Amino acid sequence: MSLERYRRKRDFARTPEPPGASGEALALGRAPAPGRRFVVQRHRARRLHYDLRLEIDGVLVSWAVPRGPTLDPSARRMAVHVEDHPLEYFDFEGTIPGGQYGAGDAIVWDWGTFEPEVPGDPGAAVRAGELKFRLHGVKLTGRFTIVHTGRGPGGSRDREGNWLLVKKRDEAAVPGWDPEANPRSVKTGRTND
Ligand code: MN
Repeated sequence: MSLERYRRKRDFARTPEPPGASGEALALGRAPAPGRRFVVQRHRARRLHYDLRLEIDGVLVSWAVPRGPTLDPSARRMAVHVEDHPLEYFDFEGTIPGGQYGAGDAIVWDWGTFEPEVPGDPGAAVRAGELKFRLHGVKLTGRFTIVHTGRGPGGSRDREGNWLLVKKRDEAAVPGWDPEANPRSVKTGRTND
C-alpha cells in the first residue's frame, strides 16, 4: 500500500491536510499498537460523504460512504474504495480550500479501534475483497462487514470500485439508526458548520 496516489491528488502548499511521512519512517517510528485504530470523517465536499478509514499496514485504508455508516443491520451502505491516506490524517479536521482535491470541510465524526474478526492479516482480507471486523468507537460499535461487490475500472477485480458496508445483527445493532442525527465531532464537539 502506498501514499503515492494520495500525494498526487493534493497540493500541500495549499491544503491543510498532512502530506504524511515516508512509509519507512512510519514503520520505524511506530510501536505496535495494542488496538488498531479507525476513524470516520464527515466530509462535506461537492457531495456529502463519510470517509471510513482503518489503520492497516502503516496507512489508513479508506472508503467513501455516501450515506454514512449506520448501526441499522437492515441497511446496506455503498462504499467506494479510495486512496490510502497517511496515519497523520487520523485526526484531521478542518477546511480544504476551494480548488483543492476534496475541497470542503471535514470533522472527526467517530474514532476508536477495530478488531479483525479473523486474527491475522486484515490487509490480505481487504485485498481478497472481504473484511469482517468489530468497531470500538464512540458512535459505532459491534460487528461489521465490508465486502467488495463490483468490478474496478476496466472490469478489473482489484479492490477498486464498489463495496458494501453492513452492520451485523448483534447487541450493538439499532434499527433505523441515522448518522445524520449524530452530527458532532468526537474530537472537538463541532459540527461541519
Ligand atoms: Mn472524503
